[in-house]
Amino acid sequence: MTIISQPLLCDDCKTPINQVSEGMVEWIDDGSISDVRIVHNPAFSPNGNCYKHTHHYHRQDNHLQIVLDNLELKNRLGII
Ligand SMILES: [Zn+2]
Repeated sequence: MTIISQPLLCDDCKTPINQVSEGMVEWIDDGSISDVRIVHNPAFSPNGNCYKHTHHYHRQDNHLQIVLDNLELKNRLGII
């Protein structure tokens, strides 16, 4: 379960994601969802890339704002 808190910290670089619009959610979906991470959009990342699953075959991602606005997806990802 991933809990949205303030300040919202990036699961990769551990620095704050200042705005929801600067955040991305990435996860693995190989039939079941795992390894859900909230990270910086690369455009706002202090180190240029906070993604971890980039080369994973079953990687998926979406904008944090879109995930938060989509109750069904939010529940599937275990984000509260
Ligand atoms: Zn980051």
